[in-house]
Amino acid sequence: MSLENTVQILYTACKAGYCVGAFNIVDYLSLEAVIHAAETHHAPVILQTSSTTVRRYGAERLVALTRTLADRTPIPIGLHLDHGTEFELIKECIKAGYSSVMIDASRYAFEENIARTHQVVELAHCYGVSVEGEIGVLAGVEDDLVVQHDKAIYTTPEEAIEFQARSEVDFLAVAVGTAHGFYKEEPRLDVETLREIHKRVSFPLVIHGGSGLSMQTLQTLVSAGAAKLNISTQLKKDYIDSLESYLSAHSNEYNPMRMLDNTHDQLVKTVGAYLQVLGSAGRV
Ligand SMILES: [Zn+2]
Repeated sequence: MSLENTVQILYTACKAGYCVGAFNIVDYLSLEAVIHAAETHHAPVILQTSSTTVRRYGAERLVALTRTLADRTPIPIGLHLDHGTEFELIKECIKAGYSSVMIDASRYAFEENIARTHQVVELAHCYGVSVEGEIGVLAGVEDDLVVQHDKAIYTTPEEAIEFQARSEVDFLAVAVGTAHGFYKEEPRLDVETLREIHKRVSFPLVIHGGSGLSMQTLQTLVSAGAAKLNISTQLKKDYIDSLESYLSAHSNEYNPMRMLDNTHDQLVKTVGAYLQVLGSAGRV
């Protein structure tokens, strides 16, 4: 199977009542580990790259690499740009063959956010690429933007409905109390608002900031209507921690493959646990 349009993967999940994990990958090792976990658990999956990763490798090479693996598996796989902020970089991903892109103009006022998002939608839809937008403000760190917890702004159902209708985004990230990075204290999630938005809209909803939430909290978010859950920080931590512990336990080994296999196995385990709790395991 080749890369699938992300919005199709999400509509399938919405209809069946489960959530699709969207995992940030940084290289071949993490890319292959996420697909390996998805195959093992028979789950559809979304691979996403940050703008930094696109700048490092180039969108065309990331698409080629992902397609090579996607072509050899029956698992539906989407390749998504996470938090695109620059139009030129978003355009590069659309033209290179990404399944979907996110335009994050949530730092702008509502009208400006709609205008910037709609501009991306118009281009993306010409190429058969779907688009994620975001409204509200999440706490935490995303690339170079830092938002304090008391400055986070939650999304209302009315805003979500108006934003989607006017911007024509295919799926929408809403702010209901999750944050980027790890949580210093248990977050106060507004699950009722998510449930209310979900009840009133017909497009898939996205939750960012999945790392560090308890498995029970994740299940609550899924049952309240989350169709896509982003997990980035947890994978980065497991990536680094597994290398660190391997190196300290095998200080004179000099066998990169064993070291990388150890990290691969850790990532497969972590991703597999998320696929189970999101309800996407066993759906393919
Ligand atoms: Zn995010």
